[in-house]
Amino acid sequence: MDGIDVLLKERRLYRPPSQFQKKAHLSGFEVLEELRRKARRDPEAFWVSAAKELFWIKPWRKVLDWKPPFAQWFVGGKINLSANCLDRHLSGARRNKAAIIWEGEPGEIRTLTYQQLYSEVCRFANVLKGLGVRAGDRVAIYMPMVPEAAIAMLGCARIGAVHSVVFAGFSAEALRDRINDAQAKLVITADGSYRWGQVLRLKDAVDEALRSCPSVEKAVVLRRTGAASPEASDLAWSEGRDHWWHELMARASDRCEAEALDSEHPLFILYTSGSTGKPKGVLHTTGGYLTQVTLTAKWIFDLRDDDVYWCTADVGWVTGHSYVVYGPLANGATTFMYEGAPLHPSADRFWSMIARHRVNVFYTAPTAIRSFMRLGEQWPAKHDLSSLRLLGTVGEPINPQAWLWYHRAIGGGRCPIVDTWWQTETGAIMITPLPGATPAKPGSATLPFPGIDADVVDKNGRPVPPGKGGYLVIRRPWPSMLRSIYGDPKRYEDQYFSQITSPDGSRRRDIYFTGDGARKDKDGYFWVLGRIDDVLNVSGHRLSTMEVESALVSHPAVAEAAVVGRPDEIQGQAITAFVTLAGGRSPSDGLKDELRQHVAKAIGSLARPSEIRFSETLPKTRSGKIMRRLLREIASGETVRGDVTTLEDFSVLARLQSQGEEE
Ligand code: ATP
Ligand code: MG
Repeated sequence: MDGIDVLLKERRLYRPPSQFQKKAHLSGFEVLEELRRKARRDPEAFWVSAAKELFWIKPWRKVLDWKPPFAQWFVGGKINLSANCLDRHLSGARRNKAAIIWEGEPGEIRTLTYQQLYSEVCRFANVLKGLGVRAGDRVAIYMPMVPEAAIAMLGCARIGAVHSVVFAGFSAEALRDRINDAQAKLVITADGSYRWGQVLRLKDAVDEALRSCPSVEKAVVLRRTGAASPEASDLAWSEGRDHWWHELMARASDRCEAEALDSEHPLFILYTSGSTGKPKGVLHTTGGYLTQVTLTAKWIFDLRDDDVYWCTADVGWVTGHSYVVYGPLANGATTFMYEGAPLHPSADRFWSMIARHRVNVFYTAPTAIRSFMRLGEQWPAKHDLSSLRLLGTVGEPINPQAWLWYHRAIGGGRCPIVDTWWQTETGAIMITPLPGATPAKPGSATLPFPGIDADVVDKNGRPVPPGKGGYLVIRRPWPSMLRSIYGDPKRYEDQYFSQITSPDGSRRRDIYFTGDGARKDKDGYFWVLGRIDDVLNVSGHRLSTMEVESALVSHPAVAEAAVVGRPDEIQGQAITAFVTLAGGRSPSDGLKDELRQHVAKAIGSLARPSEIRFSETLPKTRSGKIMRRLLREIASGETVRGDVTTLEDFSVLARLQSQGEEE
């Protein structure tokens, strides 16, 4: 690939507000630049100073062992992640501080102090031991967003069991595949969960999955909805296999020493979202992961002891692992968790919770922001959001229009926004503003975190000039990087270390390719342009999906847009845009013409979509990302063949396909 043509114009700069800057952990661009320079000269020393902030049972012998493409960090060190998240906060003022504040969808509120969370985790670790789980065994967690999900994760980490959290919205088949891939011995679940005012029957899905999961010996079931008990019961119960959480916990001791685990001991397996293909079982280990997650959480979310911090991600995603549970708790912060649907019982549920709990830091996804934008500013306006001081986004490129709305309608114009780029594979945030230091540009994740050597390069690993698009890569190993794809080191190598080649055609096994396209601007800021697989090719020009979509979203009638290329005899590819309209706007041929014109005017006639299709919804992964590969097949009139197990709503495909036929 020679590069991606760049069409989007640069926008204005938002400097950190001085009020914010005064108190920030990391304050001033010069300070940050100096840190970056130092980390560039000696990245290992930079990460060592971060690792030293943690509690190690035994120090490491070697900081980094890099045999491309396999890295090990803090080799020989012994550490326990749960002890870092819990035990070390018990000796001082944090002991009685809220570790988790939780709100259930029906409205109940629970608070667990660090002392209470510690006791629960110790108890659960003993439960695991009692069920025969040992260090290295895999445990599947299929739980609602309740504190017990975090307790289960921390309990596993305490004894060295490897957790594999599966999002509770996934089907029995998706659960079965993930259990079998990891060969899990135990499943932790709940009878149900509340979502959209309904009970989601999780245990039923587990029962169905376990019909073909021979590795599973036991299941632990939390009573959450109580809709059914074995006595009552329409809940199936397999004697000998199934155990109630509360019954096991009642018998377990609340003392459990944290296991001294190797720094490279596997911590978890987590499957990617499946936006671009079949999900990959990403494997993370302990010491390096915790080091980077802890430091990034502290600096990027500027965590303070009196903050209430809320990341809306489900624990089923990596964001839920690193920035709902581990990062905040390792920093002794208060993390807020919410169980249910974002718009239940009304469209202001999120804003009412921010006001009720006086949330200070709020971290969510562009897909959520776009849907709030579509619903209108009257919903946040009903609530006092003045406690907010910092906002964040993750998951997809954020369209500048959505950034501006977030900044104004939610942040009241006073909160910095951290647009954080990272992946399941990277384990922690990699490219991001630091809120007290980095001037933000809407739509850009700005600059690499200190110690991270990110770049935009061509096929041979040569940096492309500013303004030109290319492959987003990481040139050096980082502490929280994935160690492999579980059970498939070859796929690990093929997936991430084969696209960038030396001039003689041999693979560069030392350069990690992210799968994303990006460009750097003249200030060195990174702009993620979307997936390399999704890049459009129109009349020999390679265009990014993000730029065309952002141009569409900047039109007031458009709530959301996804563009794909379909084969075209003349142009190579022609652009088809799938568009969801803003509230109150209805589809018409006139509007189609207007949108085509709008794109041409905003970024150039090259990018003018040849076809616009209005759609009520777009196909998304369960984590809210647009699945363009499915749209590509629909636009070309093919039947959808790829892996759809992570699709959020299957009916969307049928609707999109039949719509195409009508037109
Ligand atoms: P799969 O790898 O199975 O296709 P996925 O890539 O969607 O799934 P995740 O690991 O959840 O799975 O997502 C990481 C990807 O999300 C990144 O590679 C990038 O494309 C996108 N992304 C995340 N954060 C940002 C951001 N701030 N800006 C732009 N893109 C982002
Ligand atoms: Mg990916």
